Amino acid sequence: MSRHALIVAGGGIGGLTAALALARDGHRVTVLEQASELAEVGAGIQLSPNASRVLIDLGLGDALARFAVTPDDIRIFSTRAGGEVGRTPLGNIPFERWGAPFWVIHRADLLGVLAEAARRTPGIELVLGARLRDVSAEPGEISVHATVDGEARDFRADGLIGADGVRSRVRVGVRGGPPARYTGRTAYRATLPIDAVPEEVRRSTGLWFSTRAHLVHYPIRAGREWNIVAIVEDAWHDESWSVPADRQEVARVFGLAKDRWPPLARKLLATPANWTKWALCGFDGNFEWTSGAVTLLGDAAHATLPFAAQGGGMAIEDAEVLSRALAGAPNVAAAFRAYESIRKPRTRAIVDRAVKNGRIYHMPDGLAFFRDTALRLGLGARLIDRMAWIYGWRPS
Ligand SMILES: Cc1cc2nc3c(=O)[nH]c(=O)nc-3n(C[C@H](O)[C@H](O)[C@H](O)COP(=O)(O)OP(=O)(O)OC[C@H]3O[C@@H](n4cnc5c(N)ncnc54)[C@H](O)[C@@H]3O)c2cc1C
Repeated sequence: MSRHALIVAGGGIGGLTAALALARDGHRVTVLEQASELAEVGAGIQLSPNASRVLIDLGLGDALARFAVTPDDIRIFSTRAGGEVGRTPLGNIPFERWGAPFWVIHRADLLGVLAEAARRTPGIELVLGARLRDVSAEPGEISVHATVDGEARDFRADGLIGADGVRSRVRVGVRGGPPARYTGRTAYRATLPIDAVPEEVRRSTGLWFSTRAHLVHYPIRAGREWNIVAIVEDAWHDESWSVPADRQEVARVFGLAKDRWPPLARKLLATPANWTKWALCGFDGNFEWTSGAVTLLGDAAHATLPFAAQGGGMAIEDAEVLSRALAGAPNVAAAFRAYESIRKPRTRAIVDRAVKNGRIYHMPDGLAFFRDTALRLGLGARLIDRMAWIYGWRPS
């Protein structure tokens, strides 16, 4: 197998996982991350078995298990029905079924474990404060023009992987791909000490369906904290794509003054004093990720609405498939093409699933009656079966 020098633009979940998978296979990797320190938003992330499997195979299982929680179940609530309409047991079931756990974890803990592993890996150079500006290609060599702490610097390699997120410079500026746009959905995120939330929701993943809105919550930080995401169909007027929000704004946007939300949901929404509000962005996925020795990975390639909780999972899968493609191809360009052709059908199907979930989660009351009835009659208990094609994924 040829060993290559590769640049990964972006030190997020996808970029760092890719660096670790590539270094494991003997490649030399330079990660350029624009932030001067590696930090993630104060929020949680669900890692289903398709993603946790890759991280465990990279040797990160014990480090992650110190922070992760395995929820007892997924409980589904409907505001139309006024309470719970279905429950899928989780616990050890995903592990027994797919050989890897279903974890919920704070993003800072996940990124911390990835960054620590990258720092300890001799084949990885992590350059912080390094923003990719432009790229030029000559036969057999890619030059990345970046600014590092404000100073211009060039990096050369055999290939470039753009893992620079939904507003990717590599996708738009280098590949001429589509720009990110607001999807008409806004996410409000907050974390709380676990003692601040009612006992009955501390060990579960909770999913609340409402008209044009939904909530997701679960424990994080080894069960010491709790994470809530509240999503609403909205408009975006702020200049920045993520801004602080307060309790009053959440109460107004989610209509807490009206009697729509049952008491438990109102309590959950009313407890955090401070939230962060995110514009959910996406782009038309009909474009080529790869040109020669430049490709895309994670949100840069296939940003998704978070309604299947798979954006990070897909980035992690990408990382593993990309490094395997490099092992099996004659050169970087051929490997990147093979990687794209393997990944596109699956990522497209997952992005589509997330869009469909959005329609189901946000149904108006008339239609929601049929959804809630189906969930009550057994669909709720079998929900995990419908996710088997996602959770059961293995790199081949
Ligand atoms: C509300 C919400 C809930 C979610 N829940 C889940 C979930 O439960 N499970 C799940 O799997 N996914 C979830 N996701 C999706 C997940 O967060 C993303 O898919 C994931 O973070 C994508 O990782 P990434 O590495 O591709 O991109 P990012 O995390 O965006 O990382 C990109 C990195 O590139 C850097 N960068 C950008 N431009 C440059 C440049 N020019 N030069 C150098 N560096 C650059 C950025 O600073 C950043 O560090 C959720 C998303 C949202 C919004």
